[in-house]
Amino acid sequence: MDNRLTEITARIRDVPDFPKPGILFKDVTPLLAHGPSFRTCIDLLAEQAERSFRPLPDILVGIESRGFIFGAALADRLGRGFVPVRKPGKLPYKTTRENYALEYGTDALEMHEDAVTDLRCVIVDDLLATGGTAAATARLVERCGGKVSGFAFVIELSFLIGRSKLGDRPVEALIKY
Ligand code: AMP
Repeated sequence: MDNRLTEITARIRDVPDFPKPGILFKDVTPLLAHGPSFRTCIDLLAEQAERSFRPLPDILVGIESRGFIFGAALADRLGRGFVPVRKPGKLPYKTTRENYALEYGTDALEMHEDAVTDLRCVIVDDLLATGGTAAATARLVERCGGKVSGFAFVIELSFLIGRSKLGDRPVEALIKY
């Protein structure tokens, strides 16, 4: 493994039974708090984007809330813009909403309706689990007239097979469990 991947993997903390029993939460706050590791993580995401998303997307779409941190830093590194996808009621202008299923019940995400019109987008989040959140974000982008060129994650929980919900677009993750 690339030494840099070993370095960032070591900064991800496992928190058992959060937010509920049986979930092993991958806590990226130690990675964010360590300057050299955070920079290395963005270096690796940028290299991966240059390899996988050709031509580079027009814009990066980050999912609230950890997707904002990695997505905005990556957008800056690539010299691209950033669009936030937020929980309902947070965005100030006209929004489009997409509901998605959770283990129990449903949740929803919103995007400004004019945010990605005619733009090629890469969707960014910290972690891909079942894929419901990223798939809902892809539907939002498409309903707002954007094109989904792919997905970029720091972590993928491969055993949950979330990428099967994301179609035949490139799905990239730095660290796979
Ligand atoms: P999913 O829709 O199941 O792919 O869940 C992805 C979203 O939930 C992402 O925004 C993650 O930040 C969060 N998430 C899901 N499972 C975990 C986990 N085990 N550790 C940390 N975050 C998680």
